[in-house]
Amino acid sequence: MIFETTVVDTVVIGAGQAGVAMSEHLTHLGIPHLVLEKKRIAEAWRSGRWDSLVANGPAWHDRFPNMEFPGISADGFVPKEQVADYFEAYAAKFNAPIYTGVEVKHVERNVGRPGFIIETNEGVIEARHVVAATGPFQRPVIPAIAGEIENLHQMHSAEYKNPQQLGTGAVLIVGAGSSGVQIADELQRAGKEVYLSVGAHDRPPRSYRQRDFCWWLGVLGLWDAAASQPGKEHVTIAVSGARGGHTVDFRALAYQGVKLVGLTKAVTDGKIIFQPDLAENIARGDENYLSLLDAADAYIARNGLDLPEEPQARQFLADPDCATHPLLQLDIKEAGITTIIWATGYSLDYSWLNVAAFDENNKPKHQRGISSEQGVYFLGLPWLSRRGSTFIWGVWHDAKYIADHIATQRKYSEYGKK
Ligand SMILES: Cc1cc2nc3c(=O)[nH]c(=O)nc-3n(C[C@H](O)[C@H](O)[C@H](O)COP(=O)(O)OP(=O)(O)OC[C@H]3O[C@@H](n4cnc5c(N)ncnc54)[C@H](O)[C@@H]3O)c2cc1C
Repeated sequence: MIFETTVVDTVVIGAGQAGVAMSEHLTHLGIPHLVLEKKRIAEAWRSGRWDSLVANGPAWHDRFPNMEFPGISADGFVPKEQVADYFEAYAAKFNAPIYTGVEVKHVERNVGRPGFIIETNEGVIEARHVVAATGPFQRPVIPAIAGEIENLHQMHSAEYKNPQQLGTGAVLIVGAGSSGVQIADELQRAGKEVYLSVGAHDRPPRSYRQRDFCWWLGVLGLWDAAASQPGKEHVTIAVSGARGGHTVDFRALAYQGVKLVGLTKAVTDGKIIFQPDLAENIARGDENYLSLLDAADAYIARNGLDLPEEPQARQFLADPDCATHPLLQLDIKEAGITTIIWATGYSLDYSWLNVAAFDENNKPKHQRGISSEQGVYFLGLPWLSRRGSTFIWGVWHDAKYIADHIATQRKYSEYGKK
């Protein structure tokens, strides 16, 4: 057992980017703490992503403020293993007290005194503050419509690694956010017959008038949006850093050979049924794309910036046949589909956190990460403080806010003590 009767001020659970950022701020404030990680530092970037994934934002943007990516140009897109290496090196820089291979099994409040009991596979720890930094994407979600079907291999995008992993036959990818789109593109280029089920999505231009979309979201204040627009809670964002980075263009994907279909409605009796909404979903994605171009043009005009015009960004290819004559169902056998990849997102899992920090739907109750259970904090959740909260640079700023809050609480509890 590593922890016999360990008592520490703060325990951070999870050593992804959120846990590493948290540790940096706590170290800076001189707050004694431990970071417990059940696997390895930045494990999600190592084993929870497909092999060819690169960061979606350029290296100058998708990083912490105090360290650049070694050997990568500022505008380059960092391969996922190097992202994980980066967090490991970052943690080593300030000797982060990270214990890997330590899984937190149970947390609950002490009775009659402050603080929490944290049970792990390596013993028990007591702490005044607990930061849950276990990630925004904890449990892969496959919707209930995915029934068990003989001779059909079904997996979540979290399990997808590379084209060689799949057997022969066609593939349906359900979900056209950044993961689904990039996996579809990779499989089609590897020679697979690919169907891509496209629901509601936003698709920002990769770059416009010589600025990456990450820059545009920054200067237009969109990373700082406090909540998703009403009705857009389930809208995915399709953007890609693959092959040097490019705008996701569903028409181009269709001409390349990917067969686009609407939202997947049911998988039943050897058939897959789709909604007749493909053209509408593509049109809505176009609207979102054009609205960013308009906002960028207005920003350039207002600030008198010297950035070259890009009228070709507003020209779209003709609608492909699959959009004008949408396929409404597929016979799994006839179409030769042997695999479905569900790129349908993730949910949270705080089954180990037995404190009063959840609402009636089991959602974390918090304000900018400060939970309704005094001493418990959440970090890395979608929209924790703003749109940028799950992203590398965003979580660093949220962690700073939480560390400051812990420091202030420590001052209150020190008051009056000799
Ligand atoms: C496909 C994909 C691509 C992405 N690309 C980008 C990108 O390009 N740029 C960007 O900024 N963001 C990107 N993100 C979003 C985000 O940066 C990542 O999801 C990132 O991994 C989140 O970091 P985190 O530290 O909050 O959570 P995680 O990386 O998930 O870390 C949580 C850690 O907690 C550990 N843990 C969980 N439960 C316990 C427990 N009970 N006890 C101990 N340890 C535990 C896990 O092992 C894990 O290491 C991407 C997300 C996905 C899914």
